[in-house]
Amino acid sequence: MLIYNTLSRKKEEFHPIHPDFVTMYVCGPTVYDFFHIGNARSFIMADIIRRYLEFKGFKVKFTMNITDVDDNIIKKSIQEKKPASEVAAYYAQAFFDDMKKLKVSAATFNPRATNHIETMINLISDLEKKGIAYNVNGNVFFDVSKFNEYGKLSGKNINELEAGARIEINDEKKNPLDFALWKKAKEGEPSWDSPWGKGRPGWHIECSAMSTNLLGKTIDIHAGGNDLIFPHHENEIAQSESAFEQKFVNYWMHFGFLNIQNEKMSKSLGNFFTAREILTKYSAEAIRLFFSQTYYGGPLNFSDELLDSAQKGAEKIINLAEKIEHSLKAATDDGVNPDFNFQKYYDDFAKVMDDDFNTPQGVAVIFDFVKAVNKIISDNEKIKIQFFVDAKKFLKGVADNVLGIISLEQLGKSSEGILEDDLIKLLIGVRETLKKEKNFSLADQIRNDLNKLGILLEDSKSGTTFKKR
Ligand code: AMP
Ligand code: ZN
Repeated sequence: MLIYNTLSRKKEEFHPIHPDFVTMYVCGPTVYDFFHIGNARSFIMADIIRRYLEFKGFKVKFTMNITDVDDNIIKKSIQEKKPASEVAAYYAQAFFDDMKKLKVSAATFNPRATNHIETMINLISDLEKKGIAYNVNGNVFFDVSKFNEYGKLSGKNINELEAGARIEINDEKKNPLDFALWKKAKEGEPSWDSPWGKGRPGWHIECSAMSTNLLGKTIDIHAGGNDLIFPHHENEIAQSESAFEQKFVNYWMHFGFLNIQNEKMSKSLGNFFTAREILTKYSAEAIRLFFSQTYYGGPLNFSDELLDSAQKGAEKIINLAEKIEHSLKAATDDGVNPDFNFQKYYDDFAKVMDDDFNTPQGVAVIFDFVKAVNKIISDNEKIKIQFFVDAKKFLKGVADNVLGIISLEQLGKSSEGILEDDLIKLLIGVRETLKKEKNFSLADQIRNDLNKLGILLEDSKSGTTFKKR
């Protein structure tokens, strides 16, 4: 399996540290607002990568942090006249709700920065003892000149970085690229006791601390959007590798931006749609298909036309799944045994996904499969049940479990649930007729038999309703 590693700027063969599990850390949201559909691109592509690793048989320790202490949260808490912790708790819950709606699998760990302050303080103390961090009036900075490899991820040297970065002027720093590990508390801000006085951690140290705490000093995969390469991930490397003197991450993966008119969708530019807004118009499956149709590392323009066509595409696949579901109920061991090579489709899918998660080609394999299976169904009057079992298994394993561009469980549940309710209503109607015909013993029998199945009938003046136990 090949993964494009931002650090080496080439595709590398994937070898996890442990043979049967993968440690994966993805930078999560700062919870001061609902996340936008651009953030969703990074979250969903990370989810697909994780699901594909699981498809390959790995267990994945998937970690996505919640940054719940930050300047933006403090700003919002002042605007809304609420404690910062309340603002963060509200948007963290909104984050989990929206992720679930987007069918993103639950993480193994969702650490919150404020639960790991002690580890961050210890890490900063270690850096200070080594002479790599320095304290100025309760603000602690990382001394970039002490880490020789600074710039290795972004592929630039310190001079280039200084020239290219918009760095805030701060008299306390020795070098403009030095960054805050610990920020001295200002009046009314959330703060914690530390060896440098009351304060709060800087953003970069949070990820170094939580990643090490939960996954170990060296991890397999660390991912995030392209905007995090510099300075966030560059700084994480500097902190962790200076403190632990070993490689921090083996494979660095970065997601391309979702753009609007070729400009990055971002909160600060105001050119964004929230994920929950988009979910009112398009299904999670369609949104996931829209993202899957572009290579994760490249840019993608947001467009209603592309989302509309993804919605139609997802419907095409689910229509076949529905047809298969019906055929499974009706099919028997009679009929033809079509000459169909399921293994070829699994192999094709794995081949393109093994090549740095080429989801656009993975999607193409699925559409080829849909076309071929539809043809077999329309060409043959009666087909043996095994064909439908295998076809469903492919759609479940690949389109549902890996890409999440269809939802077979929902399909089964909703159609079976509706059918079951319809059948109960039908029996209630029959019982009404029996009662009118004074056939009370048969009417009672229906009530008692339904009761045994856990379905309780309740008679009232306005008619009979039912409850499931
Ligand atoms: P934030 O809450 O801004 O830290 O962003 C959370 C995640 O979304 C990070 O991995 C960002 O890199 C990513 N992200 C932000 N904007 C976009 C965008 N327009 N397209 C893709 N990913 C983005
Ligand atoms: Zn991070």
